[in-house]
Amino acid sequence: TMLADGVRAEAAIDLSALNGNLTALRERVQHADLMAVVKADGYGHGALPCALEALAAGVRWIGTATPEEALALRAAGIGPDRARILCWLWTPGGPFAAALRSQLDISVSGQWALDELLAAVRETGIPARVHLKADTGLGRNGAQPHDWPDLVDAALRAQAAGQLDVVGIWSHFAAADEPGHPSIQAQLDAFDTALAYAERAGVRPEVRHIANSPATLTLPHAHYDLVRTGLAMYGVSPIPELGAPADFGLRPVMSLSARLALVKQVPGGHGVSYGHRYHTPGETTLGLVPVGYADGIPRHGSSAGPVQIAGKWYTVAGRVAMDQFVVDLGGDTPGIGEEVLLFGNGERGEPTAEDWAMACGTIAYEIVTRIGARVPRRYH
Ligand code: PLP
Repeated sequence: TMLADGVRAEAAIDLSALNGNLTALRERVQHADLMAVVKADGYGHGALPCALEALAAGVRWIGTATPEEALALRAAGIGPDRARILCWLWTPGGPFAAALRSQLDISVSGQWALDELLAAVRETGIPARVHLKADTGLGRNGAQPHDWPDLVDAALRAQAAGQLDVVGIWSHFAAADEPGHPSIQAQLDAFDTALAYAERAGVRPEVRHIANSPATLTLPHAHYDLVRTGLAMYGVSPIPELGAPADFGLRPVMSLSARLALVKQVPGGHGVSYGHRYHTPGETTLGLVPVGYADGIPRHGSSAGPVQIAGKWYTVAGRVAMDQFVVDLGGDTPGIGEEVLLFGNGERGEPTAEDWAMACGTIAYEIVTRIGARVPRRYH
């Protein structure tokens, strides 16, 4: 997966690694189905190619945050016969009617969404497939325990009127990536309580789901009927303290590289990049890497982010700028045009997305997701 000729920078996307990861994850969750989460343009990997690869790997559930993301997949040809697509981040005035026409699965967290959805059902004459979301402790989307009975009862009245089917009951973890965090068991208990109420009231959910990637990998009792796996399918570890991707049978899918644009000699004491936050400790060589924060390289990677050039690691020198950054090559003179590996699967000894996350004080989710539209994706 060498950088293609003449290219400034590219994100190479290894679809066979994606396929292998999905296969490994499906084996891990034998008793549950797997949803491939492709929100945020497939965590930066490309929503459509990743969704298509997931289908090729036998996955039948796709998840997105926004309805627009889900509708785009339908428009691109992923029809209802090929995949269920659940979207969960609804805002008032959202495209409920279009979602019904496209046979999306729709998450409902509260009364306003149910009202707008039912208006769209009347308008289109198409009954909705609804996943009721309980807030079991994340404090984000979902109905609070004191609002849950009303939401379930209202949905069941609409179901009795033929306006919708409650096909799912679901929730989302706050700290599944912190093994042993007390919120994990508390949320599972709250989820079971919410499920018990719904089932007593007469809901027969096709799928109950709460697990994200860390729960998919470490909490088998949280798998229920379906796991919603994002980060892990892209081969990135959601719990780096617990294991590298390989420890979970996963291979990183994205490799980011750029072409070394300049190598030059500078004297000691030379200030480097905006604000001169780095000064060369002695006479040295500097290399110019033509990607910056507009490409998604975090500015927090200033004087911190690692790269590999011709087999050797270097560190960003001074600030990451909008379109470029500099590395101190310490007197080395790699060839201009040489491939600079920012991160990849590590098989060439290069840094990984987790290394960048560590260097930038963030999580690998943010590293891959933010790789910008100016960086071409190359699928292989
Ligand atoms: N489910 C929901 C509701 C989410 O918001 C997300 C992403 O944050 C996921 C599942 C997938 O999470 P992960 O990438 O940890 O698998």
